[in-house]
Amino acid sequence: MSFSLPKLAYPYNALEPAIDTKTMEIHHSKHHAGYTNNLNAALEKHENLQTLSIEKLLKSLDDIPEEIRRAVRNNGGGFYNHSLYWEVLTPGGAKEPSGGLAKMITQTFDGLEDLKGIFSKEAMGRFGSGWAWLAVDANKNLEVLSTPNQDNPLTSGMTPVLGIDVWEHAYYLNYQNRRADYIKNWWDIINWDIVSEKYINL
Ligand code: MN
Repeated sequence: MSFSLPKLAYPYNALEPAIDTKTMEIHHSKHHAGYTNNLNAALEKHENLQTLSIEKLLKSLDDIPEEIRRAVRNNGGGFYNHSLYWEVLTPGGAKEPSGGLAKMITQTFDGLEDLKGIFSKEAMGRFGSGWAWLAVDANKNLEVLSTPNQDNPLTSGMTPVLGIDVWEHAYYLNYQNRRADYIKNWWDIINWDIVSEKYINL
């Protein structure tokens, strides 16, 4: 068994103008494909690890043999993070959070706009390459955090339900140094139905 690059549920041009076609194409067919191939290469000689889910691998990095630990952390993280990134985006965006997630956002933050502000600040504040996340802990509490490189909240026992890639490859062709504009426009293409569903199903 090996991991395969997930197909997108929409064409490369579907997220314009928030994310341009060329960025989508390179990001998915080159970067995400690269992480996927490198993850499979790292696991090639470790048959006992090949049956594990990506979540399981990333939750138990300490148990991974040292010679491939870094490769699994970086490329497994890249594989998982990008799969989530594509999944929670949708052309035109989808309304607002609903159900249990909407309720928890109201309880945890001063409403959705407050959450967006805190999350955007975290994404802006990530120095260099990394991600910002809305993650859920074991008690289903929400937390906004950011991680460097291809790390993610799974490693610290939380599950991400929303994540933004702030590596320059995610926005540079269209936005150059304007990370703030990329983040601002990214909110317009969030599929809150999927994010809400992910929260409920935890
Ligand atoms: Mn990326």
